[in-house]
Amino acid sequence: MNKVLVIGAGGVSSVAVHKMAMNADIFPHISLASRTKSKCDAIAASVKARTGQSVDTYAIDAEDVPALTALIKAIGPKLVVNLALPYQDLTIMDACLAAGAHYMDTANYEPKDVAKFEYHWQWAYQDRFKAAGLTALLGSGFDPGVTSVFAMWLKKHKLRTIRQLDILDCNGGDHGQAFATNFNPEINIREVTAPARHWEGGAFVETPAMGKKVEFDFEGVGPKNMYMMYHEELESLARFLPELERGRFWMTFGDAYIQHLTVLQNVGMTRIDPVMYNGVEIIPLQFLKAVLPEPSSLGATTKGKTNIGDIATGDALDGSGEKTFYIKNICDHEACYEETGNQAVSYTTGVPAMIGAAMVMTGVWSGEGVFNIEQFDPDPFMDMLNKHGLPWTVEELAGPVAF
Ligand code: NDP
Repeated sequence: MNKVLVIGAGGVSSVAVHKMAMNADIFPHISLASRTKSKCDAIAASVKARTGQSVDTYAIDAEDVPALTALIKAIGPKLVVNLALPYQDLTIMDACLAAGAHYMDTANYEPKDVAKFEYHWQWAYQDRFKAAGLTALLGSGFDPGVTSVFAMWLKKHKLRTIRQLDILDCNGGDHGQAFATNFNPEINIREVTAPARHWEGGAFVETPAMGKKVEFDFEGVGPKNMYMMYHEELESLARFLPELERGRFWMTFGDAYIQHLTVLQNVGMTRIDPVMYNGVEIIPLQFLKAVLPEPSSLGATTKGKTNIGDIATGDALDGSGEKTFYIKNICDHEACYEETGNQAVSYTTGVPAMIGAAMVMTGVWSGEGVFNIEQFDPDPFMDMLNKHGLPWTVEELAGPVAF
């Protein structure tokens, strides 16, 4: 019964499956299913060459609930790890309920026709997972995922309350392409072009996309412009840190990326509504994805580091007054490629996906119902980050952020 089934065969899946194979004591039997079986086979071949472990592969359309239910029943995994796209979250949850398997993902459900990143669709499965005696673990990537675990670790070990939280996501990597996204281009561009939202005074405040820019000096990378944007962990953090007065998410973008994106937006190439072309309905953003480089192809040329972390301010646990802590991981693109054949954005998502899966497989994290990652003990997850390629550091800053 210690079987795991991973769905999706992109960059994140590739890293997670390699890392699972490197931890065969927890994952003795790995199955991998995706829309394009050849992509599963390529990952399985790389895993075999690097670790000696075998991975069973299958073709599946994860939006076909009866077919997916039958596959899960035939394999009999304890846990299904969804590393396909956010569009498939609900159908995979449905199939897990029908087949009796735990569920995990790294991104919240998003309807195809509107760029809305919200948890309510998945939270609505709470009663069904509870009644079935199954666990659904939501958001076990880096952000969401590690960024929430960082916040909960600070709350457990350093701060009695978190008054202000800023999540800073910097990709200082250079892939040598004029324009490319470092994870699924469709999902990435939908996220970046959506209006910014941050948590303030008990509600979300909406501002124009890319409207707020701050320069920040990232360790291991150097000074970079970061932009305030909406990211889904703000919703779960606001729920599980009820004392939070202000929560914001920042991501770095280079000037060339912004210029390309502005042009693509201005000419309508990022639209997600259908347009007729030569008698066929196409979605411009999906067409754009087809002509952009595959993120999984960027690994070989990407150099530089990622630096992702949380800056939190609140009352110190030891009663010494208000304190500010900065907790982060710095990850090297070339080292990730050498270890798994993937760049650091896939790596920083795939490793926490493996760790979240390990928490459920071993029963270290357990429960009946739908859980966000903030609801579990951060310590065993943080220990595994240190052991499996994403070591973190924590430091005290002189005071709250000035921006
Ligand atoms: P990719 O686009 O590289 O991979 C997605 C995979 O899912 C592809 O293999 C694709 O198949 C497969 N897929 C798509 N639709 C279906 C379907 N209907 N049935 C079966 N398989 C399907 O994405 P990434 O690896 O970059 O990202 C994977 C996930 O990780 C996404 O949900 C993304 O949002 C999330 N993510 C989370 C992050 C975090 O920190 N929390 C950061 C980065 C990503 P095919 O190859 O045939 O198209």
